[in-house]
Amino acid sequence: MTARVLVVDDLEPNVKLLEAKLRAEYFDVLGAYSGEEAITIAKAEQPDIILLDVMMPGLDGFETCRRLKADPETMHIPVVMVTALDQQADRVAGLEAGADDFLTKPVEDVALFARVRSLTRLKMMTDELRARYTTGKGLGVVDSIDVEVDDGESCIFIIDDNEEQTERLKSTLGDGYVISSEADPEAALVQVRSGDFDLIIVNMSLEEMDPLRLCSSIRSFEETRLTPILAVVRKGDTRKLVRALDIGVNDYLTKPIDKGELGARVATQLRRMRYVDQLRSSFQASLEMAVTDQLTGLYNRRYLASHLSAMFDRAQWTGRPLAVMILDIDHFKDINDTHGHDVGDKVIQEFAERISRSVRGIDLACRYGGEEFLIAMPDTDIAFASVVAERLRQEIATAKFLVGDGDKEIKATVSIGIGSTEGGPEEDNAQKLIKRADEALYEAKTCGRNRVIQSAA
Ligand code: GH3
Ligand code: MG
Ligand code: MG
Repeated sequence: MTARVLVVDDLEPNVKLLEAKLRAEYFDVLGAYSGEEAITIAKAEQPDIILLDVMMPGLDGFETCRRLKADPETMHIPVVMVTALDQQADRVAGLEAGADDFLTKPVEDVALFARVRSLTRLKMMTDELRARYTTGKGLGVVDSIDVEVDDGESCIFIIDDNEEQTERLKSTLGDGYVISSEADPEAALVQVRSGDFDLIIVNMSLEEMDPLRLCSSIRSFEETRLTPILAVVRKGDTRKLVRALDIGVNDYLTKPIDKGELGARVATQLRRMRYVDQLRSSFQASLEMAVTDQLTGLYNRRYLASHLSAMFDRAQWTGRPLAVMILDIDHFKDINDTHGHDVGDKVIQEFAERISRSVRGIDLACRYGGEEFLIAMPDTDIAFASVVAERLRQEIATAKFLVGDGDKEIKATVSIGIGSTEGGPEEDNAQKLIKRADEALYEAKTCGRNRVIQSAA
């Protein structure tokens, strides 16, 4: 995995040192010598990660970070603050400024590569989601996401066979989380899949099972593929640590565990996870909105366009008939003119509900136009489609539409045209099928409305 790293430090030797280390690991490195320069380069070059020194003349690291995180062009780029070893307060200030992580000087190789790998891996994943999200936003169908919103307590799962250490971890983490633990690794593997945990902490000195195997299993499960894993390692156990990070462990802590460090690393992992979750759910919501008609909740025409040809192909391929009916409310203009547009809307909504109730799960019902609807029915011959259409027509003509507070009754009728793949032309397609239904509908209208006509094959 190659990534572009922007190293920011006012002292040239510091930049050169990190540059040399990263180049040796085949990272692509850019340098900047001030906060201002860092912002300019970040915007122009869009690096995958920024390593940012705290103490700089002019814009210091905190302010630079704040500006990067406030700008839509750079807010998605992970920032690692590089702080002096004993400046605990700096770490907190860095996280508050929006930093994604921190490293302490002098920068240790393993720690450096761990952060860079973990953050760039995560960025690549979020880039794809972000691209979709931006598309949704461009269409005006997605709200902005507020990553800072914390919806509820996070659940942390500790896997550790050392009871004393587990208890110490729990008390160090404090009351802000829902914490559970498991000493038996086999049992833990079962629990992680059903537990819906936000973070998993694994002791890398487990005795019952190879902790590396445990972590790689967690990574391989669909349910926990993206769940952050924090490893607890003995000081000096560098080889195991490097393996763990390669397997996909996100971050680590060395024993003895420092309270501030634990809190900061846990908070960082949880925040990242929340960001990914929110991107994913906004994307889901944007997808739903993009294919759904707002007034009726039925699928919209855009969805129909993409889906009907697949239904058509399936019908051709299986040799089973596909029926399409188009329904158009009769003299709807009169309803609007007599009762007003709002009442018209209510009639359309009620109409859509009646359609939804009368179709099967495999049918595709969509709002085709203002007061026009289309139902595609796979595996349905024209005789059965006619029965369904006729039942719907009668139901609409008989049961009046209640609007207002239920005090207004409106009578409405519908005309329906049916098209089918049965007896279709040699070179048939979804477009032609719709056209046949549309022609049948036109005939129903000209023959006096409130009727069902099936297209003559
Ligand atoms: P026909 O029997 O020939 O179908 O007559 P019609 O009046 O139903 O057909 P026409 O296509 O002439 O008029 C449709 C009307 O539906 C015109 C339009 O203002 C109205 N309409 C379209 N969309 C909406 C909507 O979302 N809400 C409301 N209230 N009216 C709508
Ligand atoms: Mg009409
Ligand atoms: Mg119409």
